[in-house]
Amino acid sequence: MILSGTAISSGLGMGPAIRVGDILHQAESRELIAVEGFDSEWKRIEVAFANTRQELAESVRRLEEQVGPRVADIFRAHEMMLDNFLSSGEIRTEMKEARLDPGTAVRRVFRRWIDNFRSLKDISMRQRADDIADLGRRLLRHLEPRDSDRLTDLPAGCVLIFKRLLPSDVVALPNHDIAAIVVESLGQASHAALLVREKNIPTVAGFAGVHERVREGEEVLVDGYIGEIVIAPDPATRTEFEARLDQYQSTQMRCRGACREPAHTLDGTLVKVEANLGANDNIELALENGADGVGLFRIEQLYLTQELPPTEDELLTALDRIAGRLDGKPLTVRLLDVGGDKPMPFLHLPPEANPGLGMRGARILLEHPGLMRPQLAALARLSERYPVRILVPMVTLEEDVRTIREVFETMCAACGVKTPPPFGAMIETPAAALGVPAIAKHVDFLCVGTNDLTQYTFAAGRDDPAVNRYFQDTHHALMRLLEIIVADAGDLPVTLCGELAGREAMTPQLLGIGFRALSVSPPTIPALKARVRSLRVGA
Ligand code: PEP
Ligand code: MG
Repeated sequence: MILSGTAISSGLGMGPAIRVGDILHQAESRELIAVEGFDSEWKRIEVAFANTRQELAESVRRLEEQVGPRVADIFRAHEMMLDNFLSSGEIRTEMKEARLDPGTAVRRVFRRWIDNFRSLKDISMRQRADDIADLGRRLLRHLEPRDSDRLTDLPAGCVLIFKRLLPSDVVALPNHDIAAIVVESLGQASHAALLVREKNIPTVAGFAGVHERVREGEEVLVDGYIGEIVIAPDPATRTEFEARLDQYQSTQMRCRGACREPAHTLDGTLVKVEANLGANDNIELALENGADGVGLFRIEQLYLTQELPPTEDELLTALDRIAGRLDGKPLTVRLLDVGGDKPMPFLHLPPEANPGLGMRGARILLEHPGLMRPQLAALARLSERYPVRILVPMVTLEEDVRTIREVFETMCAACGVKTPPPFGAMIETPAAALGVPAIAKHVDFLCVGTNDLTQYTFAAGRDDPAVNRYFQDTHHALMRLLEIIVADAGDLPVTLCGELAGREAMTPQLLGIGFRALSVSPPTIPALKARVRSLRVGA
């Protein structure tokens, strides 16, 4: 069966399908537990509850410290809910009377409560359903630890089928080869889409109902160039696809070569080609492909798969490992940029009518200084050993950067760092683009994020497939904004780091505007360097 959708990340892949689902909504087991086996199965429930309780207590402690009492209270409420679930006796009844196994009993009871709350009129009661679901998932992960590893314990060469793909899912994927990803619905410029491109995983989207349609283990062919899939191919289609796949894999190998050398245009202008990193296992790929440094390290990857925000020491350890592998090349770390399409479970942000226009990036950092300080302190300490640069995400106002820089300098002084590392601002809102002269007073460099700049300029959500047509990052309106940014930046270094930076067809225009540093996903680097070498800027 051939189905057509949208191409998200180019490339070809084939393999057996694995449907990745929600642990809470997995199919119920039909096997009943033996009457004499009840006690040992019940013991598993008690252990899972005890572990969940312990984890919640740790969440309360750490969140109180980093995010504040309001969020910590949410987990206190989860602790109480957990006790109520145990004392209500419902799980016990399902196991004893219906002889359900522990996982099935927990799913049934939690799903019943979620449905009850969802059916209520009161909106705050309806929102309680999400808390119950969250708690249910946490409990199940302790009960069935192997299932929770679904994303990290996958066989090589499989095709993953998702209903919805979140950035945290991509970050959690294993380092070894995932043949391809098929998603029911995903926006072209969503963070999850950027991350799969960065990980070089052929990905397609726009296949409503595919999660139900494909059977586990069924073979799927994925064409990430045209956005097509073939489920259970006939032998002729399969053979033809295999031949294309062989060719695709050999071109990937050939792309490297000269890419490790710096890229100069024909008339001798150096253009730095750096890597965007959103999933840290890509450092090897970035270096192998000749990255001149890391132009954008999305620190979210150290948070997205965590139940709790990392501490200063944990951040330092993780960043140290990354900087240490870069052979002295610069590492530009962007402070946490969450909100919008990157929800952070532990933050429990109240639902917003327009998440893309609400609490994101610098706004959240300023609202939660406890979340920002461990990052700043870890980076200040890291800068004593490695060439680090710090970047503030989603800046709108001059005050955003001024305030965060003040906090950073105080942190540097407190950590005994005499020369603070370079401090920069992301220019990714029209207000920041037009406000460069004011913002420039507080920073040492700028980094232009065209993904967000496009979404806000064209009023077209980057993660909304319905408005893909309006999301035009090569439009002359955006080029005019880029010209203004570069002209107003004067001598301040400016890197371009949105997806636009890697579009080879646009390289002449971008160099013409004056960009001399481009930061792109690691698989794009060799071809982009080759493109730079074929151009003249006429400087
Ligand atoms: C951008 O907005 O262009 C950018 C590079 O940041 P992110 O994609 O992580 O929002
Ligand atoms: Mg952005």
